[in-house]
Parts: sequence; C-alpha cells; structure tokens
Amino acid sequence: PYDLLIVGGGPAGASAAIYAARKGIRTGIVADRFGGQVLDTMAIENFISVQETEGPKLVAQLEQHVKQYEVDVMTNQRAVGLASGDLREVTLENGATLKSKAIMVATGARWREMNVPGENEYRGRGVAYCPHCDGPLFKGKRVAVIGGGNSGVEAAIDLAGIVAHVTLIEFDNQLRADAVLQKKLHSLSNVTVIVSAMTTEVKGDGKKVNGLVYQDRISDESHEVELEGVFVQIGLVPNTGWIKGSVELSSRGEVLVDEKGQTSMTGVFAAGDVTTVPYKQIIISMGEGAKASLAAFDYLIRSSVE
Ligand code: FAD
Repeated sequence: PYDLLIVGGGPAGASAAIYAARKGIRTGIVADRFGGQVLDTMAIENFISVQETEGPKLVAQLEQHVKQYEVDVMTNQRAVGLASGDLREVTLENGATLKSKAIMVATGARWREMNVPGENEYRGRGVAYCPHCDGPLFKGKRVAVIGGGNSGVEAAIDLAGIVAHVTLIEFDNQLRADAVLQKKLHSLSNVTVIVSAMTTEVKGDGKKVNGLVYQDRISDESHEVELEGVFVQIGLVPNTGWIKGSVELSSRGEVLVDEKGQTSMTGVFAAGDVTTVPYKQIIISMGEGAKASLAAFDYLIRSSVE
C-alpha cells in the first residue's frame, strides 16, 4: 500500500506529492488529467514570482518537479469511490482498487458553463471565468458578467474598478446576492444591471469576442450588447461525486476540512478547489496541498497501521 495516495493531479495534488515524497514516504498520484484546470488556462499572471506564464507550460514544470521524486504517477484514471477499513481504499473506474494509509482528495472543481453558441469557441479569447485571473486583461474595455449571485455581483464590483463598463446579466427577475453587495453594485456609475435575461449567444469576429446576445424573458425580444469580454459566474462545481456519502460535504458539495485539511474521515485529507477553503486560485491550491500533505505526514507518524 501507499503511505499517501493523492487523488487529483492539479496544483494541489502536485504540491501535496512533492511535500510527501520529500518525507521519504511511499507516495502515489492518481489523476484523470495531470495538470487539472491549469491545462485549460492561457495567460497566468498571478502566480507569484513568475511574472507571466501559460497553463500548459506551468503544467509541464509541475510534472517535471514531481518527477524529480519517487512518486507513482497514474494518469487517465478516474476514481469512483472511497472506503475506509484498516487502510483507505480508492476504487477506480476500471474496477481496480488502490490501498493507502492516508488519502489526499485533490480532485478540484469545474466552472459551470452557459452552454450557448460562442462560449467554447471564444473561451480564453474574451470568455473568462475568473475575475481575479483575467480582470486586468480587460482594462478599459467593456465586459458582461453572467450571474447575479454573490460571485457574479462580487465580480461585477471588482471589474467595475478596472474595466470601462460592466453589464450584469441575471436570469431571474432579481439579483440573488447579499443586500450589502447589491447596494454597493447599484452605487457604481459604470454598471448596468439587466434582470430576467437569458444569454443566448456569445458573438465574435472569429478571433475574439465582440458582443453578447440575450433574450428578455418577459417580452421574448432579443438584444445585443457590444463588448469585449464575458465573465461567466454561474457556479463552480466541486468534483466530489465520487466521495459523496464517504466524507462530509458542504451544501455546495465541497469537502469540509479543518485548518489542517483533515476531512470527516480519519486519514483522509483534502486540498484545493475541491474543499470549502475560499478563493480558488493556483497559489492557494498549492499552499493548501503543501499544508494538508504535512498534516497527513503528522497523522502517519502517529498512526499504528503497518
Ligand atoms: P484542479 O486544477 O481542478 O485539478 C483537479 C485534478 O483532479 C485534475 O488532475 C483532474 O483530472 C483530477 N480529477 C478530478 N476528478 C477526478 C476523479 N474522479 N478521479 C481522478 N482524478 C480526478 N488560477 C490562478 O491562480 N490564476 C489564473 O490565471 C487562473 N486562470 C484560470 C483560467 C481558467 C480557464 C480556469 C478554469 C481556472 C483558472 N484558475 C486560475 C484557477 C486554477 O486553475 C485553480 O484554482 C486550480 O487549478 C485548482 O487546483 P486543484 O489542484 O485544486 O484542482
């Protein structure tokens, strides 16, 4: 068996693996896709100490760093279940099981998509999901934020300080964000709020986004907004389907962890976007992965399992 088996090969999993391997313990990573969300990212400008990089380049460096150590890296493998006996057991989609004294859940999350024409085509070319990451790329330009929940309204307030104009589009007939956020939003002169509106298309010139079409859900009329960017803020979905029922999850499906990354199951830790830890970022996932890995090591040296 492994001492620490990490499920997920994004920044959190890679960081956890390096910290574990440096303790000389038997470490494995099992992942669907090494690199995780970073593989889908173009410009990264907020990974501190690296002024600018690209997702696939950072993933190659992560992989190289992990491979400096004795870590079993198993990719193209999906975990489908987690059980606990004397050892912890991860079941894979192909029917195999992997045993380990401790487990790190680092399966990340995915942004909920609008599923409208143009969204995929212009992803990274005007269609964005992370205001902390991509906001500055739209300095002085016009953008829309899709979604009037807390994250959408926070994104609109954040972006309003950087871009020329923000159009916030909400499907429902009212915003769902906290009152204090709505009050702040309505105080801003460069924000337009449109409710009862369904986004139907992202338009572009073949290279980048130049507009957005929405349907007024009351009159059924279609309207077009000219803009350069669309931030989709309709939810971040944690990849926890495979551990539902095994470890405690929040109402949003995120793994509940304590300050050391310990979950409700003894010997099972979690880190990164999959957890309740706020602000989903590369640097945060890496820090959390390192921390939870050290906590797993602490657990292992105290546990009597052979
Ligand atoms: P992830 O990166 O989501 O990795 C999850 C890992 O788990 C993957 O290896 C995946 O294959 C694996 N996995 C999932 N389910 C299973 C399963 N059942 N079995 C086996 N393996 C599984 N952050 C920044 O800091 N700066 C940026 O500029 C930035 N830009 C972004 C742009 C885009 C388009 C996106 C989508 C995100 C961006 N982010 C950015 C956010 C950042 O990518 C995430 O916060 C970070 O990748 C989270 O790391 P993680 O390791 O927790 O999870």
